Amino acid sequence: MKKLKMNPKHIDEKHKAAIIAWAVKIGAKKSGKNYKLRCPIHKERTPSFMISPWAGMIHCFGCGFHANLNRHTELGYYCWVTPDGKIYPLSEWLVK
Ligand SMILES: [Zn+2]
Repeated sequence: MKKLKMNPKHIDEKHKAAIIAWAVKIGAKKSGKNYKLRCPIHKERTPSFMISPWAGMIHCFGCGFHANLNRHTELGYYCWVTPDGKIYPLSEWLVK
């Protein structure tokens, strides 16, 4: 697979819309400006996995998982990228 080129620009309306669509698809619940979900990384009973469309990031207050949204510059799709470089395409990850 080709090395991914990421484009870490600030979040625009398209990014926000993509995140919101994804959040709704995976069943996250709206909570103020954010969406909340039970963490897919660690086991928990109450949701502490936060999706922030306006900040372009996801963060879990339980286990500390964190990723920022980036757009693959060649293929044009959106991915979550963790600080250690793991990539989760928005179109696939957690989508039923
Ligand atoms: Zn977690």
